Amino acid sequence: MKHCCFRFDADTHACVTRGMPALLALAREFGVRFTFFVNMGRGFDRRITLAKAFRRIVSRARPGHISAAAKLGLRDSLVVAALNPNAGLVSPATLRAALDAGHEIGVHGGRNHSQWEHHAQEWSEERLRDEILSSLRAMRKHSIPETTSFASPAWNSPPRLKELLPALGFRILADAYDAAATEVARDSAGLTLVPTNITPGPGRAGYLETLQMRGLDAKGVAAHFRNELAAKGRLAVVYDHPFYAGIHGLPALRAMIAEALDCGFRVSTLKEAVADANSDS
Ligand SMILES: [Zn+2]
Repeated sequence: MKHCCFRFDADTHACVTRGMPALLALAREFGVRFTFFVNMGRGFDRRITLAKAFRRIVSRARPGHISAAAKLGLRDSLVVAALNPNAGLVSPATLRAALDAGHEIGVHGGRNHSQWEHHAQEWSEERLRDEILSSLRAMRKHSIPETTSFASPAWNSPPRLKELLPALGFRILADAYDAAATEVARDSAGLTLVPTNITPGPGRAGYLETLQMRGLDAKGVAAHFRNELAAKGRLAVVYDHPFYAGIHGLPALRAMIAEALDCGFRVSTLKEAVADANSDS
């Protein structure tokens, strides 16, 4: 069985409140399942001031990227700057609805996406465990069942993470970003490492976001995706953010799913792809 996994990292409240519902509706149309790695913590570092946070959101435009404000719109940008909400906690019902529909919910970091992005390499084992436990506690509190999948914010994967995760009940780590990877890998601690292997080129921004910024329309994205799929073999994993994909990239995403199905892939969660790979070996 060939698996194509759409892996969405829900970093902000808008990913959960606006992006995920759009993606769940799209998945329902096709009868497919996605994996969502959800940030149960805050998006920004609280130590930065409100004004600074807002400036950062508004000005975060790099060549080939859209500023967060342009993506989010003014209202949601203000919510992020003023409240810095815990992304996953703004709508636990959406996470439960995703699970009920067969999608996978994984953990995306700990108390704060930005702190993990910039400091996780320096954290002690205790700190790292505490951060992950904080996400697990938040999920439990809102009746979101145990998850076995983890992905680090901004691909910042501290070396001791692999030793820690199995003891906390995790079986899948999706921190590898490698266009050349063709299979999942198993490490000695019992984790299965799932690579994100469909990439839009240099940089680690979302696939759809990057290609649409380059000017590709839905047809262009679908053609690019078809070429990528042809080069991947049994496992294809592509990544984006729910808000971008669900609000700005929906027609292109629809075309990508159609391509994957047309190329004989099953569009499934990482967990399903890993279960299939493990049953083969
Ligand atoms: Zn993230």
